[in-house]
Amino acid sequence: MSEQTLTIIKPDAVAAGNAGKILAHLEGEGFRILGLKRLHLSRDQARAFYEVHRERPFYDSLVEFMTSGPVMAAALERDDAVAGLRRVMGATNPEEADEGTIRALYASSIEKNSIHGSLSPENAALELAFFFSRAELIGA
Ligand code: ATP
Ligand code: MG
Repeated sequence: MSEQTLTIIKPDAVAAGNAGKILAHLEGEGFRILGLKRLHLSRDQARAFYEVHRERPFYDSLVEFMTSGPVMAAALERDDAVAGLRRVMGATNPEEADEGTIRALYASSIEKNSIHGSLSPENAALELAFFFSRAELIGA
């Protein structure tokens, strides 16, 4: 069933000039780009977005990384978009990511891993609303 999910091309991939290649890879996997914005997250925005990880040892470093440069946030639509995006991204740690996945191709470490994808349809709805208004996604 057609579903929406949220991806973020992280600062490492944007800085390396890989944003266009990653978007093309996603389109090649059947994702339609409903919304796309480039933005430089503030510390408060990054902390809020990764709130679920606030107790994790990597939280401060993650916030630092995610605010280190511009990102591209995209609203994506496809059948089985949430699980499908996570398959196309590959494992969090690029050393464990399957060949041909975005993280195997573009990530440099478990932290600087090039792309984010929502975890579940419920989480996708929250994350889409974090970056895009309802009006921006209607009829997209
Ligand atoms: P994302 O939420 O970005 O799609 P994920 O769901 O694969 O990635 P999470 O466990 O949600 O991974 O971690 C969120 C992000 O925190 C990771 O993508 C990575 O950038 C960073 N991260 C996760 N684990 C570590 C770690 N052990 N050391 C450093 N950074 C980490
Ligand atoms: Mg996650």
